Amino acid sequence: MSTVRVRFAPSPTGDLHVGGARTALFNWLYARHHGGAFVLRIEDTDAARSTEAATQVIIDALEYLGLDWDEGPGKDGDYGPYYQSQRLDLYREYADVLMEKGRAYECYCSPEELDQRRQEQIKLGQSTRYDGRCLHLSEEEKQNFREQGRVPVIRFKALEEGETLVEDLVRGNVKFDNVTQVDDFVIFKSDGMPTYNFAVVVDDALMKITHVIRGEDHLSNTPKQIQIYQALGFAVPKFAHIPMILGPDKSLLSKRHGATSVTQFYDEGYLASAMVNYLSLLGWGYDDSQTIFSTSELVEKFGLERVSKNPAVFDIQKLEWMNGVYIRNLSLEELYEVALPFWQKAGYLPEAPSPEVKEYAIRILKELQSRMKLIAEVVELAEYFFRDDYEYKEEIVQKIMTKPHTESVLDFVYGAVQAAVKLDEETLKPQFQVGLETFGIKMGDLIQPIRVALTGTNVSPGIYDVLELLGKERVLARLERTKAMLKEKELI
Ligand code: GLU
Repeated sequence: MSTVRVRFAPSPTGDLHVGGARTALFNWLYARHHGGAFVLRIEDTDAARSTEAATQVIIDALEYLGLDWDEGPGKDGDYGPYYQSQRLDLYREYADVLMEKGRAYECYCSPEELDQRRQEQIKLGQSTRYDGRCLHLSEEEKQNFREQGRVPVIRFKALEEGETLVEDLVRGNVKFDNVTQVDDFVIFKSDGMPTYNFAVVVDDALMKITHVIRGEDHLSNTPKQIQIYQALGFAVPKFAHIPMILGPDKSLLSKRHGATSVTQFYDEGYLASAMVNYLSLLGWGYDDSQTIFSTSELVEKFGLERVSKNPAVFDIQKLEWMNGVYIRNLSLEELYEVALPFWQKAGYLPEAPSPEVKEYAIRILKELQSRMKLIAEVVELAEYFFRDDYEYKEEIVQKIMTKPHTESVLDFVYGAVQAAVKLDEETLKPQFQVGLETFGIKMGDLIQPIRVALTGTNVSPGIYDVLELLGKERVLARLERTKAMLKEKELI
Protein backbone atom coordinates (compact mmCIF):
# COMPACT_ATOMS: atom_id res chain seq x y z
CA MET A 1 0.00 0.00 0.00
CA SER A 2 1.26 3.45 -0.79
CA THR A 3 2.29 5.65 2.08
CA VAL A 4 -0.51 7.54 3.75
CA ARG A 5 -0.49 11.27 3.01
CA VAL A 6 -3.09 13.50 4.60
CA ARG A 7 -3.52 17.21 4.95
CA PHE A 8 -5.16 19.87 7.03
CA ALA A 9 -6.33 22.67 4.75
CA PRO A 10 -7.81 25.51 6.76
CA SER A 11 -8.98 28.82 5.33
CA PRO A 12 -7.35 31.57 7.39
CA THR A 13 -10.43 33.68 7.91
CA GLY A 14 -10.79 33.71 11.69
CA ASP A 15 -10.01 31.72 14.80
CA LEU A 16 -9.34 28.02 14.70
CA HIS A 17 -12.38 26.45 16.31
CA VAL A 18 -12.99 23.11 17.93
CA GLY A 19 -14.17 21.60 14.64
CA GLY A 20 -11.08 22.65 12.72
CA ALA A 21 -8.77 21.53 15.50
CA ARG A 22 -10.52 18.17 15.61
CA THR A 23 -10.11 17.79 11.83
CA ALA A 24 -6.41 18.64 12.14
CA LEU A 25 -6.04 16.14 14.96
CA PHE A 26 -7.75 13.28 13.14
CA ASN A 27 -5.51 13.85 10.13
CA TRP A 28 -2.42 14.06 12.30
CA LEU A 29 -3.33 10.91 14.23
CA TYR A 30 -4.02 9.07 11.00
CA ALA A 31 -0.67 10.10 9.56
CA ARG A 32 1.23 9.22 12.74
CA HIS A 33 -0.58 5.90 13.14
CA HIS A 34 0.39 4.87 9.62
CA GLY A 35 3.84 6.42 9.63
CA GLY A 36 2.66 8.70 6.84
CA ALA A 37 2.90 12.42 6.15
CA PHE A 38 0.78 15.26 7.51
CA VAL A 39 0.68 18.33 5.30
CA LEU A 40 -0.49 21.81 6.29
CA ARG A 41 -1.95 23.85 3.47
CA ILE A 42 -3.34 27.31 4.00
CA GLU A 43 -6.28 27.85 1.66
CA ASP A 44 -6.03 31.59 1.27
CA THR A 45 -7.44 32.19 -2.18
CA ASP A 46 -10.26 34.28 -0.78
CA ALA A 47 -8.13 37.40 -0.58
CA ALA A 48 -10.86 39.52 0.96
CA ARG A 49 -11.34 37.24 3.95
CA SER A 50 -7.90 35.70 4.47
CA THR A 51 -5.48 37.36 6.83
CA GLU A 52 -1.93 36.74 7.96
CA ALA A 53 -3.05 37.09 11.56
CA ALA A 54 -5.52 34.24 11.11
CA THR A 55 -2.78 32.09 9.56
CA GLN A 56 -0.61 32.76 12.60
CA VAL A 57 -3.48 31.82 14.91
CA ILE A 58 -3.77 28.47 13.12
CA ILE A 59 -0.03 27.83 13.31
CA ASP A 60 0.07 28.77 17.01
CA ALA A 61 -2.89 26.53 17.73
CA LEU A 62 -1.30 23.55 15.98
CA GLU A 63 1.95 24.15 17.83
CA TYR A 64 0.12 24.37 21.15
CA LEU A 65 -1.64 21.07 20.44
CA GLY A 66 1.63 19.52 19.28
CA LEU A 67 0.33 18.73 15.78
CA ASP A 68 3.52 19.06 13.76
CA TRP A 69 3.52 18.87 9.99
CA ASP A 70 6.09 17.11 7.89
CA GLU A 71 6.87 19.18 4.87
CA GLY A 72 6.53 22.51 3.15
CA PRO A 73 8.73 25.39 2.10
CA GLY A 74 11.78 25.50 4.39
CA LYS A 75 14.36 22.97 5.43
CA ASP A 76 15.74 20.77 8.22
CA GLY A 77 12.34 20.14 9.72
CA ASP A 78 11.53 23.82 9.96
CA TYR A 79 8.78 23.98 7.40
CA GLY A 80 6.31 26.68 6.70
CA PRO A 81 2.89 25.70 5.47
CA TYR A 82 1.99 25.59 1.80
CA TYR A 83 -0.04 28.60 0.75
CA GLN A 84 -2.51 28.36 -2.10
CA SER A 85 -1.89 32.02 -2.89
CA GLN A 86 1.65 31.03 -3.88
CA ARG A 87 0.45 28.33 -6.25
CA LEU A 88 -1.88 30.33 -8.50
CA ASP A 89 0.02 29.47 -11.70
CA LEU A 90 -0.65 25.80 -11.12
CA TYR A 91 -4.39 26.26 -10.86
CA ARG A 92 -4.33 28.37 -14.02
CA GLU A 93 -2.39 25.65 -15.80
CA TYR A 94 -4.94 22.98 -14.92
CA ALA A 95 -7.86 25.24 -15.77
CA ASP A 96 -6.28 25.55 -19.21
CA VAL A 97 -6.05 21.79 -19.44
CA LEU A 98 -9.77 21.53 -18.72
CA MET A 99 -10.55 24.23 -21.29
CA GLU A 100 -8.54 22.38 -23.92
CA LYS A 101 -10.43 19.19 -23.14
CA GLY A 102 -13.75 21.00 -23.45
CA ARG A 103 -14.41 20.45 -19.75
CA ALA A 104 -14.32 24.13 -18.81
CA TYR A 105 -15.53 27.30 -20.46
CA GLU A 106 -15.67 31.04 -20.01
CA CYS A 107 -18.90 32.43 -18.69
CA TYR A 108 -19.79 36.11 -19.08
CA CYS A 109 -23.09 36.13 -17.21
CA SER A 110 -23.22 38.93 -14.67
CA PRO A 111 -24.12 38.28 -11.01
CA GLU A 112 -27.37 40.20 -11.54
CA GLU A 113 -28.36 38.04 -14.51
CA LEU A 114 -27.52 34.89 -12.63
CA ASP A 115 -29.54 36.01 -9.69
CA GLN A 116 -32.52 36.87 -11.79
CA ARG A 117 -32.48 33.46 -13.45
CA ARG A 118 -32.12 31.81 -10.09
CA GLN A 119 -35.22 33.57 -8.84
CA GLU A 120 -37.10 32.40 -11.91
CA GLN A 121 -35.99 28.83 -11.35
CA ILE A 122 -37.16 29.03 -7.75
CA LYS A 123 -40.52 30.42 -8.88
CA LEU A 124 -40.92 27.55 -11.31
CA GLY A 125 -39.96 25.05 -8.65
CA GLN A 126 -36.85 24.01 -10.60
CA SER A 127 -33.48 23.21 -9.10
CA THR A 128 -31.26 26.26 -9.10
CA ARG A 129 -28.39 25.52 -11.40
CA TYR A 130 -26.42 27.33 -14.04
CA ASP A 131 -28.32 26.96 -17.31
CA GLY A 132 -25.24 26.43 -19.48
CA ARG A 133 -25.92 29.52 -21.52
CA CYS A 134 -22.25 30.42 -22.10
CA LEU A 135 -21.17 26.88 -22.98
CA HIS A 136 -21.22 27.43 -26.71
CA LEU A 137 -20.36 31.12 -27.08
CA SER A 138 -18.68 32.01 -30.35
CA GLU A 139 -15.46 34.05 -30.36
CA GLU A 140 -17.48 36.98 -31.62
CA GLU A 141 -19.99 36.79 -28.77
CA LYS A 142 -17.16 36.64 -26.26
CA GLN A 143 -15.53 39.62 -27.92
CA ASN A 144 -18.79 41.54 -27.63
CA PHE A 145 -19.06 40.78 -23.94
CA ARG A 146 -15.49 41.84 -23.36
CA GLU A 147 -16.16 45.10 -25.13
CA GLN A 148 -19.05 45.66 -22.72
CA GLY A 149 -16.44 45.47 -20.00
CA ARG A 150 -17.47 42.04 -18.78
CA VAL A 151 -14.78 39.87 -17.23
CA PRO A 152 -15.46 36.15 -17.49
CA VAL A 153 -15.38 33.45 -14.85
CA ILE A 154 -14.42 29.90 -15.80
CA ARG A 155 -16.97 27.18 -15.26
CA PHE A 156 -16.40 23.49 -15.09
CA LYS A 157 -18.43 21.49 -17.58
CA ALA A 158 -20.03 18.99 -15.22
CA LEU A 159 -21.47 15.65 -16.27
CA GLU A 160 -25.02 15.93 -17.55
CA GLU A 161 -26.33 12.57 -16.55
CA GLY A 162 -25.80 9.69 -14.22
CA GLU A 163 -24.60 9.75 -10.68
CA THR A 164 -21.37 10.48 -8.89
CA LEU A 165 -20.52 8.00 -6.20
CA VAL A 166 -18.65 9.09 -3.11
CA GLU A 167 -17.15 6.06 -1.40
CA ASP A 168 -16.68 7.42 2.04
CA LEU A 169 -14.75 5.59 4.73
CA VAL A 170 -17.07 6.92 7.40
CA ARG A 171 -20.37 7.41 5.66
CA GLY A 172 -20.25 4.48 3.25
CA ASN A 173 -21.37 4.92 -0.35
CA VAL A 174 -23.17 8.19 -0.97
CA LYS A 175 -24.65 8.82 -4.42
CA PHE A 176 -25.18 12.24 -5.92
CA ASP A 177 -27.43 12.87 -8.87
CA ASN A 178 -25.39 14.66 -11.52
CA VAL A 179 -28.39 16.42 -13.01
CA THR A 180 -29.75 18.01 -9.87
CA GLN A 181 -26.78 18.06 -7.54
CA VAL A 182 -23.76 19.08 -9.63
CA ASP A 183 -24.08 21.99 -12.04
CA ASP A 184 -21.46 23.81 -14.10
CA PHE A 185 -19.84 25.43 -11.11
CA VAL A 186 -17.26 28.20 -11.18
CA ILE A 187 -13.63 27.11 -10.92
CA PHE A 188 -12.02 30.50 -11.55
CA LYS A 189 -13.54 33.75 -10.40
CA SER A 190 -13.45 36.97 -12.40
CA ASP A 191 -10.77 38.29 -10.05
CA GLY A 192 -8.45 35.61 -11.37
CA MET A 193 -8.58 33.47 -8.24
CA PRO A 194 -9.49 29.78 -8.28
CA THR A 195 -12.44 28.61 -6.20
CA TYR A 196 -12.10 26.20 -3.30
CA ASN A 197 -13.58 23.21 -5.15
CA PHE A 198 -11.02 23.52 -7.92
CA ALA A 199 -7.86 24.48 -6.05
CA VAL A 200 -8.44 21.77 -3.48
CA VAL A 201 -8.44 19.09 -6.18
CA VAL A 202 -5.35 20.36 -7.96
CA ASP A 203 -3.50 20.52 -4.65
CA ASP A 204 -4.68 17.24 -3.24
CA ALA A 205 -3.71 15.56 -6.50
CA LEU A 206 -0.32 17.23 -6.88
CA MET A 207 0.46 16.74 -3.19
CA LYS A 208 -0.44 13.09 -3.62
CA ILE A 209 -2.91 13.13 -0.78
CA THR A 210 -4.17 9.59 -0.22
CA HIS A 211 -6.94 10.31 2.33
CA VAL A 212 -9.06 13.44 2.54
CA ILE A 213 -10.30 13.59 6.11
CA ARG A 214 -12.54 16.60 6.76
CA GLY A 215 -15.81 17.78 8.21
CA GLU A 216 -19.08 16.37 6.94
CA ASP A 217 -20.08 19.84 5.77
CA HIS A 218 -17.82 19.16 2.78
CA LEU A 219 -19.55 15.95 1.75
CA SER A 220 -21.78 17.81 -0.72
CA ASN A 221 -18.69 19.33 -2.37
CA THR A 222 -17.17 15.94 -2.92
CA PRO A 223 -19.05 14.91 -6.11
CA LYS A 224 -17.92 18.17 -7.72
CA GLN A 225 -14.36 17.46 -6.73
CA ILE A 226 -14.52 13.86 -7.92
CA GLN A 227 -15.71 15.03 -11.34
CA ILE A 228 -12.68 17.32 -11.55
CA TYR A 229 -10.28 14.53 -10.57
CA GLN A 230 -11.78 12.40 -13.29
CA ALA A 231 -11.76 15.15 -15.90
CA LEU A 232 -8.07 15.80 -15.22
CA GLY A 233 -7.20 12.11 -15.12
CA PHE A 234 -6.05 12.28 -11.51
CA ALA A 235 -6.40 9.36 -9.11
CA VAL A 236 -9.29 9.99 -6.71
CA PRO A 237 -8.17 9.89 -3.06
CA LYS A 238 -10.12 8.15 -0.33
CA PHE A 239 -12.58 10.33 1.53
CA ALA A 240 -13.55 10.30 5.18
CA HIS A 241 -16.13 12.85 6.25
CA ILE A 242 -16.15 13.17 9.99
CA PRO A 243 -19.30 14.07 11.92
CA MET A 244 -20.29 17.59 12.82
CA ILE A 245 -19.90 18.90 16.33
CA LEU A 246 -22.98 20.13 18.18
CA GLY A 247 -23.48 22.22 21.28
CA PRO A 248 -25.39 20.87 24.31
CA ASP A 249 -28.66 22.09 22.75
CA LYS A 250 -27.91 19.90 19.71
CA SER A 251 -27.51 22.81 17.31
CA LEU A 252 -24.24 23.20 15.39
CA LEU A 253 -21.49 24.25 17.76
CA SER A 254 -20.88 27.98 17.52
CA LYS A 255 -19.66 30.93 19.54
CA ARG A 256 -23.11 31.11 21.10
CA HIS A 257 -22.15 28.04 23.09
CA GLY A 258 -19.24 29.82 24.81
CA ALA A 259 -15.55 29.24 24.29
CA THR A 260 -14.97 27.34 21.07
CA SER A 261 -11.69 28.69 19.73
CA VAL A 262 -8.40 27.01 20.45
CA THR A 263 -6.86 30.36 21.40
CA GLN A 264 -9.45 30.75 24.15
CA PHE A 265 -8.73 27.29 25.49
CA TYR A 266 -5.04 28.06 25.47
CA ASP A 267 -5.60 31.35 27.29
CA GLU A 268 -7.75 29.67 29.92
CA GLY A 269 -5.03 27.17 30.63
CA TYR A 270 -6.19 23.92 29.12
CA LEU A 271 -3.29 21.52 28.79
CA ALA A 272 -2.49 20.39 25.28
CA SER A 273 -2.60 16.75 26.35
CA ALA A 274 -6.13 17.19 27.74
CA MET A 275 -7.29 19.09 24.65
CA VAL A 276 -5.91 16.41 22.34
CA ASN A 277 -7.53 13.68 24.41
CA TYR A 278 -10.87 15.45 24.50
CA LEU A 279 -10.88 16.42 20.81
CA SER A 280 -10.06 12.83 19.83
CA LEU A 281 -13.34 11.72 21.37
CA LEU A 282 -15.43 14.09 19.27
CA GLY A 283 -16.55 11.50 16.76
CA TRP A 284 -14.11 8.74 17.59
CA GLY A 285 -13.98 6.24 20.41
CA TYR A 286 -12.00 3.14 21.17
CA ASP A 287 -14.51 1.29 23.27
CA ASP A 288 -17.37 2.20 25.57
CA SER A 289 -15.31 2.57 28.69
CA GLN A 290 -11.98 4.25 28.04
CA THR A 291 -11.92 8.03 28.00
CA ILE A 292 -8.38 8.90 29.06
CA PHE A 293 -5.83 8.37 26.30
CA SER A 294 -2.31 9.70 26.20
CA THR A 295 -1.34 11.15 22.85
CA SER A 296 0.92 8.19 22.08
CA GLU A 297 -1.92 5.83 22.92
CA LEU A 298 -4.16 7.73 20.53
CA VAL A 299 -1.57 7.42 17.80
CA GLU A 300 -1.48 3.70 18.42
CA LYS A 301 -5.24 3.20 18.55
CA PHE A 302 -6.69 5.76 16.14
CA GLY A 303 -8.36 4.52 12.98
CA LEU A 304 -11.13 5.72 10.70
CA GLU A 305 -13.15 2.55 11.17
CA ARG A 306 -14.11 3.74 14.66
CA VAL A 307 -15.19 7.18 13.54
CA SER A 308 -18.90 7.61 14.11
CA LYS A 309 -21.47 8.76 11.57
CA ASN A 310 -23.41 10.51 14.32
CA PRO A 311 -22.75 14.07 15.34
CA ALA A 312 -20.59 14.60 18.38
CA VAL A 313 -21.65 16.81 21.28
CA PHE A 314 -19.14 19.23 22.70
CA ASP A 315 -19.34 19.13 26.47
CA ILE A 316 -17.25 21.79 28.14
CA GLN A 317 -17.75 20.24 31.59
CA LYS A 318 -16.23 17.01 30.39
CA LEU A 319 -13.29 18.87 28.91
CA GLU A 320 -12.81 20.73 32.19
CA TRP A 321 -12.97 17.52 34.15
CA MET A 322 -10.45 15.94 31.81
CA ASN A 323 -8.14 18.91 32.17
CA GLY A 324 -8.29 18.45 35.93
CA VAL A 325 -7.31 14.81 35.51
CA TYR A 326 -4.32 15.82 33.41
CA ILE A 327 -3.35 18.56 35.85
CA ARG A 328 -3.29 16.08 38.71
CA ASN A 329 -1.07 13.79 36.64
CA LEU A 330 1.59 16.45 36.16
CA SER A 331 4.70 16.47 38.27
CA LEU A 332 5.02 19.64 40.35
CA GLU A 333 7.89 20.73 38.14
CA GLU A 334 5.69 20.36 35.03
CA LEU A 335 2.82 22.13 36.73
CA TYR A 336 5.17 24.96 37.63
CA GLU A 337 6.22 25.32 34.00
CA VAL A 338 2.64 25.74 32.83
CA ALA A 339 1.54 27.92 35.75
CA LEU A 340 4.54 30.25 35.58
CA PRO A 341 3.40 32.32 32.58
CA PHE A 342 0.03 32.92 34.23
CA TRP A 343 1.66 34.11 37.44
CA GLN A 344 4.11 36.25 35.52
CA LYS A 345 1.30 37.82 33.55
CA ALA A 346 -0.54 38.58 36.79
CA GLY A 347 2.59 40.26 38.09
CA TYR A 348 3.04 37.74 40.92
CA LEU A 349 6.37 36.42 39.68
CA PRO A 350 9.29 38.05 37.89
CA GLU A 351 10.73 37.15 34.47
CA ALA A 352 13.34 34.90 36.05
CA PRO A 353 12.28 33.70 39.50
CA SER A 354 15.09 32.88 41.94
CA PRO A 355 15.43 29.28 43.17
CA GLU A 356 13.82 30.29 46.49
CA VAL A 357 10.86 31.88 44.77
CA LYS A 358 10.48 28.84 42.57
CA GLU A 359 10.52 26.59 45.59
CA TYR A 360 7.84 28.71 47.24
CA ALA A 361 5.77 28.57 44.05
CA ILE A 362 6.08 24.81 43.88
CA ARG A 363 4.97 24.45 47.49
CA ILE A 364 1.89 26.50 46.66
CA LEU A 365 1.17 24.34 43.62
CA LYS A 366 1.43 21.23 45.74
CA GLU A 367 -1.51 22.58 47.76
CA LEU A 368 -3.53 23.72 44.76
CA GLN A 369 -2.96 20.87 42.32
CA SER A 370 -5.85 18.71 43.47
CA ARG A 371 -8.31 21.59 43.29
CA MET A 372 -7.63 22.98 39.84
CA LYS A 373 -9.56 22.38 36.65
CA LEU A 374 -7.90 25.10 34.60
CA ILE A 375 -4.36 26.35 34.81
CA ALA A 376 -5.67 29.92 34.59
CA GLU A 377 -7.26 29.37 38.01
CA VAL A 378 -3.81 29.55 39.62
CA VAL A 379 -4.04 33.32 39.39
CA GLU A 380 -7.08 33.66 41.60
CA LEU A 381 -6.36 30.65 43.76
CA ALA A 382 -2.90 31.83 44.67
CA GLU A 383 -3.44 35.56 44.86
CA TYR A 384 -3.04 35.82 48.63
CA PHE A 385 0.15 33.75 48.51
CA PHE A 386 1.79 36.40 46.36
CA ARG A 387 0.09 39.63 47.33
CA ASP A 388 -0.24 41.17 50.76
CA ASP A 389 -2.99 43.50 49.56
CA TYR A 390 -5.40 40.66 48.77
CA GLU A 391 -9.03 41.65 48.95
CA TYR A 392 -11.44 40.45 51.59
CA LYS A 393 -14.62 39.01 50.12
CA GLU A 394 -17.32 41.17 51.60
CA GLU A 395 -20.04 38.54 51.95
CA ILE A 396 -17.58 36.16 53.61
CA VAL A 397 -16.45 38.85 56.03
CA GLN A 398 -20.09 39.57 56.91
CA LYS A 399 -20.82 35.89 57.41
CA ILE A 400 -17.78 34.81 59.36
CA MET A 401 -16.13 37.81 60.94
CA THR A 402 -19.28 39.10 62.65
CA LYS A 403 -19.48 36.17 65.04
CA PRO A 404 -18.77 36.73 68.74
CA HIS A 405 -15.20 35.99 69.77
CA THR A 406 -13.80 37.06 66.38
CA GLU A 407 -11.53 39.64 67.85
CA SER A 408 -10.48 37.45 70.78
CA VAL A 409 -9.78 34.55 68.43
CA LEU A 410 -7.60 36.73 66.20
CA ASP A 411 -5.70 38.05 69.22
CA PHE A 412 -5.33 34.59 70.64
CA VAL A 413 -3.98 33.18 67.37
CA TYR A 414 -1.65 36.16 67.10
CA GLY A 415 -0.13 35.25 70.43
CA ALA A 416 0.08 31.55 69.62
CA VAL A 417 1.80 32.20 66.29
CA GLN A 418 4.17 34.71 67.79
CA ALA A 419 5.25 32.19 70.43
CA ALA A 420 5.47 29.18 68.09
CA VAL A 421 8.83 27.91 66.90
CA LYS A 422 7.25 26.39 63.80
CA LEU A 423 3.93 27.07 62.14
CA ASP A 424 3.08 23.45 61.46
CA GLU A 425 0.12 21.43 62.62
CA GLU A 426 2.11 19.57 65.24
CA THR A 427 3.14 22.76 66.98
CA LEU A 428 0.02 24.86 66.55
CA LYS A 429 -2.88 22.46 66.90
CA PRO A 430 -2.36 21.80 70.64
CA GLN A 431 -2.11 25.57 71.17
CA PHE A 432 -5.32 26.19 69.27
CA GLN A 433 -7.01 23.49 71.34
CA VAL A 434 -6.33 25.55 74.43
CA GLY A 435 -8.12 28.48 72.81
CA LEU A 436 -11.16 26.34 72.04
CA GLU A 437 -11.62 25.55 75.69
CA THR A 438 -11.09 29.14 76.77
CA PHE A 439 -13.71 30.48 74.37
CA GLY A 440 -16.00 27.47 74.42
CA ILE A 441 -15.98 27.16 70.63
CA LYS A 442 -15.28 24.43 68.09
CA MET A 443 -12.18 24.10 65.90
CA GLY A 444 -14.10 25.38 62.88
CA ASP A 445 -15.02 28.57 64.71
CA LEU A 446 -11.37 29.21 65.26
CA ILE A 447 -10.07 28.18 61.86
CA GLN A 448 -12.65 30.01 59.76
CA PRO A 449 -11.80 33.52 60.95
CA ILE A 450 -8.08 32.81 60.63
CA ARG A 451 -8.60 31.61 57.11
CA VAL A 452 -10.54 34.72 56.19
CA ALA A 453 -7.89 36.85 57.88
CA LEU A 454 -5.00 35.24 56.02
CA THR A 455 -6.58 34.74 52.60
CA GLY A 456 -9.54 37.10 52.34
CA THR A 457 -11.84 34.19 51.61
CA ASN A 458 -13.16 30.97 53.08
CA VAL A 459 -11.70 28.41 50.71
CA SER A 460 -8.03 27.61 50.81
CA PRO A 461 -5.71 24.70 51.30
CA GLY A 462 -5.47 23.33 54.84
CA ILE A 463 -4.96 26.12 57.35
CA TYR A 464 -1.68 24.77 58.68
CA ASP A 465 -0.32 24.58 55.13
CA VAL A 466 -1.33 28.18 54.59
CA LEU A 467 0.27 29.24 57.90
CA GLU A 468 3.49 27.44 57.09
CA LEU A 469 3.68 28.75 53.57
CA LEU A 470 3.09 32.35 54.59
CA GLY A 471 5.52 32.24 57.50
CA LYS A 472 5.39 33.99 60.84
CA GLU A 473 6.07 37.53 59.75
CA ARG A 474 3.39 37.63 57.11
CA VAL A 475 0.84 35.81 59.26
CA LEU A 476 1.24 38.37 62.03
CA ALA A 477 1.05 41.28 59.62
CA ARG A 478 -2.10 39.83 58.07
CA LEU A 479 -3.78 39.34 61.41
CA GLU A 480 -3.09 42.99 62.16
CA ARG A 481 -4.30 44.08 58.76
CA THR A 482 -7.49 42.12 59.26
CA LYS A 483 -8.14 43.70 62.62
CA ALA A 484 -7.66 47.13 61.13
CA MET A 485 -10.11 46.27 58.36
CA LEU A 486 -12.70 45.01 60.84
CA LYS A 487 -12.30 48.13 62.96
CA GLU A 488 -12.76 50.32 59.96
CA LYS A 489 -15.98 48.48 59.12
CA GLU A 490 -16.95 48.81 62.78
CA LEU A 491 -17.36 45.07 63.05
CA ILE A 492 -15.21 44.91 66.16
N1 GLU B 1 -10.39 25.26 3.19
C1 GLU B 1 -11.44 24.32 3.44
C2 GLU B 1 -12.03 24.60 4.80
O1 GLU B 1 -11.40 25.23 5.61
C3 GLU B 1 -10.86 22.93 3.35
C4 GLU B 1 -11.81 21.85 3.28
C5 GLU B 1 -11.15 20.56 2.90
O2 GLU B 1 -10.49 20.00 3.79
O3 GLU B 1 -11.23 20.16 1.75
O4 GLU B 1 -13.14 24.22 5.06
